[in-house]
Amino acid sequence: MSAYGPEHPRNLIPELCNQFYHLGWVTGTGGGISIKDGLKKSQCTPLFMLAYKERGAGAVIHTHSPHAVRCTLLYDKEFTITHQEMIKGIKDAKLGRFLRYDENLVVPIIENTPFERDLAGSLGEALRQYPGTSAVLVRRHGVYVWGDTWQQAKTMTECYDYLFEMAVEMKKLGLDPAFNPEAQNKPVN
Ligand code: ZN
Repeated sequence: MSAYGPEHPRNLIPELCNQFYHLGWVTGTGGGISIKDGLKKSQCTPLFMLAYKERGAGAVIHTHSPHAVRCTLLYDKEFTITHQEMIKGIKDAKLGRFLRYDENLVVPIIENTPFERDLAGSLGEALRQYPGTSAVLVRRHGVYVWGDTWQQAKTMTECYDYLFEMAVEMKKLGLDPAFNPEAQNKPVN
């Protein structure tokens, strides 16, 4: 028996890693979780520190989710989607509230670098250019998501992942995830 409770990072981080492994978010050497206070050092730590410093985050999750990676191959500088229920699970830091289902969700995409630590410059720049975002996609690599608490970071990572997968599937069907159905005239019958 552990001397720590189930929500102590010593128990929580392995538990979350186990869940994320089964979701395909963290496999091989990829991905990680950081929770403020008592966090384990990892290769990603300087990047996690950016979200703590720039955003006052309480937790950061980094995944190599295939859905996130595929999205970075289908979009140029920004991922955009609208009119999806799961958008309501994403908090906009600039607005200080969760988005509505019919609002635009935008996630900046930065270019990958041969060494993960070298992402710090462009990640910091994306945080400044997109003061509302709680995620940054990295091309052919994955996504960083942060929240006020580990629970919020986890929930938002799940919502983002759903939306990334949805966007990929929509594009495969020839549908535009950024299309606003309310801006069009409804068909006559
Ligand atoms: Zn990574």
